[in-house]
Amino acid sequence: MPVPNPRLRRERIILQGETPNPINLPPGCRFHPRCPIAQPHCQQTDPGWRKIEPLHFAACHEV
Ligand code: SF4
Repeated sequence: MPVPNPRLRRERIILQGETPNPINLPPGCRFHPRCPIAQPHCQQTDPGWRKIEPLHFAACHEV
């Protein structure tokens, strides 16, 4: 498993909008209203979990 580099600095992304209401979640990817890279299909299709590599999963169409 890779070890994090404490000197690595990444550009911070400030998300816009509000977190969704948990009792009325948006359709498709639940993150799509705030996602900076959302695509049209994100509004309709839940990406589900996909294995990227051992012990690394992602729920995103764009990964
Ligand atoms: S599936 Fe990925 S790209 Fe699409 S809205 Fe969700 S997090 Fe963003």
